[in-house]
Amino acid sequence: MSGRVRAVVVGGGYAGVMAANRLAGSRRAHTPLEVTLVDPAPGFTERIRLHQLGAGRRASADVPWTDVLNPRVRHLPARALRIDADRRSIGLAGREPLSFDWLVYAVGSGETSTSLLSVTDPEAARATRTAIGELRPGSAVTVAGAGPTGVEVACAVALARPDLHITIVSPSGSMHPLTGHPAVGRRLRRLGIAVESGTVDRMTGAITTGEGSRPAAPATIWTAGFAVPSLAADSRLPVTGDGRLLVDGTLTVPGHERILGAGDAVSVAGPAAAHLRASCATALPLGAHAADSVLARLGGREPSAIDLGYVLQCLDLGSGQGHVRFVRPDDSPRPWALAGRAGGWTKEQICRMTVTWLAGEASTPGSYRWPAGPRLPVG
Ligand SMILES: Cc1cc2nc3c(=O)[nH]c(=O)nc-3n(C[C@H](O)[C@H](O)[C@H](O)COP(=O)(O)OP(=O)(O)OC[C@H]3O[C@@H](n4cnc5c(N)ncnc54)[C@H](O)[C@@H]3O)c2cc1C
Repeated sequence: MSGRVRAVVVGGGYAGVMAANRLAGSRRAHTPLEVTLVDPAPGFTERIRLHQLGAGRRASADVPWTDVLNPRVRHLPARALRIDADRRSIGLAGREPLSFDWLVYAVGSGETSTSLLSVTDPEAARATRTAIGELRPGSAVTVAGAGPTGVEVACAVALARPDLHITIVSPSGSMHPLTGHPAVGRRLRRLGIAVESGTVDRMTGAITTGEGSRPAAPATIWTAGFAVPSLAADSRLPVTGDGRLLVDGTLTVPGHERILGAGDAVSVAGPAAAHLRASCATALPLGAHAADSVLARLGGREPSAIDLGYVLQCLDLGSGQGHVRFVRPDDSPRPWALAGRAGGWTKEQICRMTVTWLAGEASTPGSYRWPAGPRLPVG
């Protein structure tokens, strides 16, 4: 291959920024690599802080692009509307189409799938902050979903507005493997947060429990599952039933060697990926791996399949409290956890590390590494 090579990353979240930095930092002397990151956002969003923004406990979750991007990455503030795989072109809102030689698809899962309040993206989080701020003292708030995001939002709102009555509603009650830990239950009770088994209507907020149905609370925050953008499906690329781009173990779209994907917006095929969960803990290594696969092919080598293991699952329980659970590489729980202040401190360090890893990959290409997956022997 000769001349310049155009690599485009669509979506500048944890996966996309990591991919763009690794591509831009590659020392491929014989072929200059031009890297463009397409994302309409004014800055990088620390999505893992959005529950704090939604509760009004934080003014912003934005980080300037220049803090996390390699200066060789060109940021193009635009929304991708369609990918033409055959022509290797991306249709952009209000701009000329953008051509690519290699594409990394990393549009995340910040799509709103509900008319209720949510914290899925900065705009939704800001609307939630306004709605919570306007509630009268003593008002009820429902948090739909008892997973990590539901529990984090509930704690943040309880700390911001101790005068509200907050109930987490979920079909499984508090049986989630991370949030169902007794130490988390104690924290919720201390903050006056109730947990109830039931379902919440995604559009109206009406609640159905074993005892019957009741109308929506004055505010309902939906956290029970995030939706991915329809860009891959609209572009007739192969997708799962919920719209995630299908990729193989090298993170390549089957039949489209030049299109790769990473992060929440993709589904990785194969048993080695069966344990992967949508998280920034997954998005970061997937972003790096997608870039590595592109660089391998550019160097005439076969890319390897992703081999990713986990170490921790963690929760922010507000005011410096947290819960950190150690896990095996396949994400199954180990019998140890850090609770209270130790958990909160560790969780905060991990949140900071995510941005540090992105900035580190921008300044020291190839520096980001992650633990190996469950197929390898582990201690
Ligand atoms: C409140 C909250 C708390 C969380 N806490 C944790 C946690 O503690 N630990 C953890 O591991 N995970 C956590 N998560 C999940 C984590 O944030 C996501 O898994 C992670 O952000 C996924 O990264 P990503 O790069 O795939 O996508 P995202 O971070 O969602 O980024 C996607 C980017 O794509 C852009 N984009 C979307 N559509 C287009 C388009 N058409 N054209 C161009 N750009 C587009 C968006 O603007 C966005 O910048 C949390 C999520 C939330 C909402």
